[in-house]
Amino acid sequence: AGTIRADIALIGLAVMGQNLILNMNDHGFVVCAFNRTVSKVDDFLANEAKGTKVIGAHSLEEMVSKLKKPRRIILLVKAGSAVDDFINKLVPLLETGDIIIDGGNSEYRDTTRRCKELMKKGILFVGSGVSGGEEGARYGPSLMPGGAKEAWPHIKTIFQSIAAKVGSGEPCCDWVNIYLILTLPCVGSLVVGDEGAGHFVKMVHNGIEYGDMQLICEAYHLMKDVVGMEHDEMSKVFQEWNKTELDSFLIEITANILKFKDSDGKYLLPKIKDSAGQKGTGKWTAISALEYGVPVTLIGEAVFARCLSSLKEERVQASKLLKGPKVTQFSGDKKAFLEDIRKALYASKIISYAQGFMLLRQAAKEFGWTLNYGGIALMWRGGCIIRSVFLGKIKDAFDRNPELQNLLLDDFFKTAVEKCQDSWRRVISTGVQIGIPMPCFTTALSFYDGYRHEMLPANLVQAQRDYFGAHTYELLSKPGAFIHTNWTGHG
Ligand code: NAP
Repeated sequence: AGTIRADIALIGLAVMGQNLILNMNDHGFVVCAFNRTVSKVDDFLANEAKGTKVIGAHSLEEMVSKLKKPRRIILLVKAGSAVDDFINKLVPLLETGDIIIDGGNSEYRDTTRRCKELMKKGILFVGSGVSGGEEGARYGPSLMPGGAKEAWPHIKTIFQSIAAKVGSGEPCCDWVNIYLILTLPCVGSLVVGDEGAGHFVKMVHNGIEYGDMQLICEAYHLMKDVVGMEHDEMSKVFQEWNKTELDSFLIEITANILKFKDSDGKYLLPKIKDSAGQKGTGKWTAISALEYGVPVTLIGEAVFARCLSSLKEERVQASKLLKGPKVTQFSGDKKAFLEDIRKALYASKIISYAQGFMLLRQAAKEFGWTLNYGGIALMWRGGCIIRSVFLGKIKDAFDRNPELQNLLLDDFFKTAVEKCQDSWRRVISTGVQIGIPMPCFTTALSFYDGYRHEMLPANLVQAQRDYFGAHTYELLSKPGAFIHTNWTGHG
């Protein structure tokens, strides 16, 4: 077995790691498996990996000795110190040019740090977002690699062959940055690093997932409580919507969830406690948005909607005390209103993605990344939770104009929002009248209205700040000059 040369090693034999190994094996790569609890290596070889070309190692030394050069090692272990522990143990065993890939859900700042530290030691570090859960890992995930770009030519074939495919076989995996090599006459070649970009892109993906889910929940709430629909009916509507611009994995599973019956023959969904959990990636996206000053309002509201939902006991109390509006009945045309809801959902979704890409753009500015926006849309097009036909349209928009400032300024999306806006406004005003919470529908519309206003009332904010704090203001007629006024005439 000593002569066997594996193409790649994978450390971390939990469900994600095992599935990714089997996926790589299916595509003809020889993978060497390793795990902290070494007995799991033999278990895996004797069971799940039986009859495959997968080989195992009982120590990191043995694993490294079985690898072709440059060595490629994927870590799929718990995010945090486990990743650092393995890196520290691996470094003394590796040579310049060897590659470590972290496929776990690491925080992008950790990835940036690891990338920089390892670069100094000659090791190429890649942080790759992996989405699609267990199913994705096994049969085609969305992969979002970033980091030391010299690694990409050595991992591209493996990554793109195991990734999900869309259209005519395009892989949902590309380097998250555009290759940017500045050739300066005296310095030679300088590679602009993109460090934590892969994990940042994965984080934004998860944030967008929160937004998409909440938007669907608001549509469901309106259908249930305003239109007064039954579960079966709602399921059929989502099934229909899945044949429109909204065609996506999340709409599809919603249709299936709505019609699912429990063993007692009753619908399961209304029996589920309305208290949403979260693991933190949506929150991280919202925190980044605040940190970099980008109005990613929809994801923020989606996170807060989960927080509000989890105050179940308080809400039960409040529901007995706090009154809503007198009008609780919808009197209009229900069929027309359903189409309005569909359009409100579509317009809000466009806003959410526009905001998500604004965050990516700002992060790129902060960190000196040159993100491959079209490529990112394509990576999300298949394999992951937010996969949708819609993402193909975003890819097209960035193909038309790679410098696109904002998705809303692309002709396709501009027209789409315009076509939806009357419906969108009708749904929101009806929902507000009847007292249905629609945090994401409403924040999306407010964003749209704010973004399209040449003049916002922030002149008053500036005057107030200057009034009480002498923070100064700028006159429209005199840009660049900062003025303080003595507003009260005193002192
Ligand atoms: P997990 O439960 O997050 O991690 C288990 C693996 O990590 C095991 O191999 C375990 O080794 C190892 N590990 C844990 N603590 C360790 C430590 N202190 N030192 C060394 N090794 C340690 O497994 P998972 O769900 O398969 O996820 C793997 C990674 O992929 C995570 O970062 C996760 O966030 C990410 N991810 C998961 C999903 C998903 O759907 N599950 C989707 C995308 C990304 P032992 O066997 O020795 O305990």
